[in-house]
Amino acid sequence: MKNVFRILKKEFPNIQNNVLMKNHTTFKIGGPAEYFLIVRKREDLMKAIKVAKKLTIPVFILGGGSNLLVSDKGFSGLVIKIELDNLVLKKKNTIISDAGVTMQNLVNMSLKNSLVALEWAGGLPGTVGGAVRGNAGAFGGEVKDSILSVEALDKNLQLRKLSNTQCQFSYRSSIFKKKNWTIVSVVIKCKKGDKKTLQEIANSHIKYRKEKHPLEYPNAGSVFKNVDFKKIPLRLQNLFLDKVKKDPFLIVPSAWFIIGAGLTGKKIGKAQISKKHSNYIVNLGGAKAKDVAQLITFAKEKIKEKYGVSLEQEIQYLQ
Ligand SMILES: Cc1cc2nc3c(=O)[nH]c(=O)nc-3n(C[C@H](O)[C@H](O)[C@H](O)COP(=O)(O)OP(=O)(O)OC[C@H]3O[C@@H](n4cnc5c(N)ncnc54)[C@H](O)[C@@H]3O)c2cc1C
Repeated sequence: MKNVFRILKKEFPNIQNNVLMKNHTTFKIGGPAEYFLIVRKREDLMKAIKVAKKLTIPVFILGGGSNLLVSDKGFSGLVIKIELDNLVLKKKNTIISDAGVTMQNLVNMSLKNSLVALEWAGGLPGTVGGAVRGNAGAFGGEVKDSILSVEALDKNLQLRKLSNTQCQFSYRSSIFKKKNWTIVSVVIKCKKGDKKTLQEIANSHIKYRKEKHPLEYPNAGSVFKNVDFKKIPLRLQNLFLDKVKKDPFLIVPSAWFIIGAGLTGKKIGKAQISKKHSNYIVNLGGAKAKDVAQLITFAKEKIKEKYGVSLEQEIQYLQ
């Protein structure tokens, strides 16, 4: 092990070992990453994956850590934190953004230039790479709506350029998630709009998040994906008729199932199903990944039992 670290250190002087992932996730949960490297250049990203492959070390790509539950045991392998942060406004209302740019910097740039594209993402944490991989969405908008193309590294470290259609975006998914490809940069197509109106929309979303989401505690956003209305057993659909939303297809927010099953406020250790928003689990201080994982399993079982619905996790589990 020491030998591996020595080889890695020679290639990447800024590499660290035994870095606590709880310091790199919004949940503030997670044990040590065996090796931890911050990359700011695409050459370093490619080199790091290549070297890890040669040394047969598992690699995990980290963005803003806002959709992650990392095991208490940490990760045996190399965590590469992407901090490539070039953000450029081109002619014809096009933005080119590196994967490590934060969504909020991207939103701010589009608003500053009166560009319609990302105002729905006001207050969305994380990086552009993480958002594209999971086709993040909120308030009726989704990342896929404004992507022109994406540059990504495939498993053979080939740099590919994919059009919007080739990205195979779907609800909280994409080709990058299915194939585990690494997003390097994206091109975003915008339209000109009214600066004041766009700013107001973004601000209203930020305000809504502060009011309705438990931002006062560490968390990782929505725990479960919303439920496709068609997947609710016919005999139970009328229970949720007034809860159905179009986002982007007909869904019922999973919070309603959690509330219906009486799970709001349920605690295991220091992890709690939020009293403010039932689709959030919050870290009350010192929560363990195992507490959160148990809460997730418990909620899934109870909801399956009561409604015959299988909740799917939105949070990514790294172990
Ligand atoms: C308070 C709060 C509110 C949230 N609200 C929303 C919301 O409204 N809508 C929504 O969709 N999500 C929401 N989220 C979840 C989260 O912010 C998004 O999923 C975000 O897009 C994740 O980006 P990240 O950079 O933090 O990814 P990370 O958490 O770092 O990683 C998530 C996954 O993406 C992968 N990944 C990261 N970067 C790359 C890359 N460059 N290439 C390939 N894979 C990569 C990681 O390997 C991991 O599997 C919320 C989270 C929080 C904490």
